[in-house]
Amino acid sequence: MATVVILGAGLGGIPAAYEVRSKLDSSHKVIVVGSGKFYEFTPSNPWVAVGWRTLEDTRVEMHRPFERKGIEFIPEWCTAIDAPNRKLTLKGGRVLEYDYLVIATGPKLAFEEVPGLGPHGGFTQSVCKTGHAADSRADFDKLVENPGPVIVGAAAGASCFGPAYEYAFILDTELKKRKVRDKVPMHFVTPEPYAGHLGLDGVGDTKGLMESELRERHIRWTCNAKITSVEDGKMHFTEFDEDGNEKKKHELPFVHSMILPAFKGVDAVMDIDGLTNPRGFILIDEHQRNPTFSNIYAVGVCVAIPPVGPTPVPTGAPKTGYMIESMVTATTHNISNELSGKAPDKHPTWNAVCLADFGDTGVAFVALPQIPPRNTNWSGSGKWVHWAKIGFEKYYLRKIKQGKVEPFFERYAMRLMGVQKLKSKM
Ligand SMILES: Cc1cc2nc3c(=O)[nH]c(=O)nc-3n(C[C@H](O)[C@H](O)[C@H](O)COP(=O)(O)OP(=O)(O)OC[C@H]3O[C@@H](n4cnc5c(N)ncnc54)[C@H](O)[C@@H]3O)c2cc1C
Repeated sequence: MATVVILGAGLGGIPAAYEVRSKLDSSHKVIVVGSGKFYEFTPSNPWVAVGWRTLEDTRVEMHRPFERKGIEFIPEWCTAIDAPNRKLTLKGGRVLEYDYLVIATGPKLAFEEVPGLGPHGGFTQSVCKTGHAADSRADFDKLVENPGPVIVGAAAGASCFGPAYEYAFILDTELKKRKVRDKVPMHFVTPEPYAGHLGLDGVGDTKGLMESELRERHIRWTCNAKITSVEDGKMHFTEFDEDGNEKKKHELPFVHSMILPAFKGVDAVMDIDGLTNPRGFILIDEHQRNPTFSNIYAVGVCVAIPPVGPTPVPTGAPKTGYMIESMVTATTHNISNELSGKAPDKHPTWNAVCLADFGDTGVAFVALPQIPPRNTNWSGSGKWVHWAKIGFEKYYLRKIKQGKVEPFFERYAMRLMGVQKLKSKM
């Protein structure tokens, strides 16, 4: 009998728990260690920040769903991993032994890398966590009462750009509805070398789509930008040219700002020789397995993947939902193989299917695989994306509540688009 512990109950960890449970017989134990009792649907956060959703609308209390599936749930922070001895220490002091560990801890948000950034003692808002988005709502309400300049964007080293565009466009949509958009000059600040790069060197025509959306919505933008500091109501950033030489120093006022920070690994995984790269992202091989500790797998934002290429201001590659699901499926197969005495043999495709909502319209893209060069490199836009994202939110939250892995119609629809989670060779 083996004990498989999943560390982190987010978009990677919960599907991992359901898939591992459905694949292993009941002699094996599956335990999830999460930071709280709720699953929070991160993609809805920009909606929470403008009041289109409440916290309660976008989260699921996980005790019952896990219990129904025979998964033990411990909603308690893990403070340390003893990888050589296969143990976790939890905040209350409990020590948990495991045979296999799946790390799915997502990112730690590196606000401290820019003085004055972030909601914890800084001057900018965040939509990275659902709690941040709920707090940001109060700042949004103040903006509506006393309209003034807005800055949205991402810090140098960020890897997740989609939600920054989403927030800028959703904010624009809501401010128009409130009839105050004319009093709100908006600026988008990003380390990307061009709008729509997204840390992926673009997908299909995301460059054209994002630029034209920014133009149509009267949002000015600065690329190759490194935010250097933020004070109350003022942002300082430096713009670089395409060779990485300093081009111009900027200072812009704001009354409301939402900036996505760079990511790094969470405290519990840091400083373990062989487990992570210097920023704390988990090193993995082509089977999602750590090369030093072969009983540790990792899925989601916490894994180390290289940027798609150098950029004048550092950017990282995003890890998107479907890509994470492919990591989960490969991990599950490989742990199951190992438990039946076989070698891991499944490789994730890291395919990406993404819907970016702009409040009234949106952009969708399919990148097969997510990291270029690609076999499929498509993007499209329209009102249908907005409705598809709302539909997806409802569908996904229901799937999490019911403990479904991948219903046949989902697999069938994905196959029709040529999107699969596994491939036999890298
Ligand atoms: C605002 C936003 C919107 C996004 N929208 C989309 C989208 O529309 N489509 C898409 O494909 N991708 C989207 N993404 C990217 C990605 O899909 C999400 O970030 C996704 O939530 C990542 O899943 P994860 O499991 O890796 O991390 P998370 O979902 O962050 O889950 C990690 C969990 O582990 C917990 N944890 C961390 N450390 C510990 C510890 N020591 N002990 C216990 N628990 C711990 C965390 O608290 C968290 O609950 C978005 C990202 C953001 C930030």
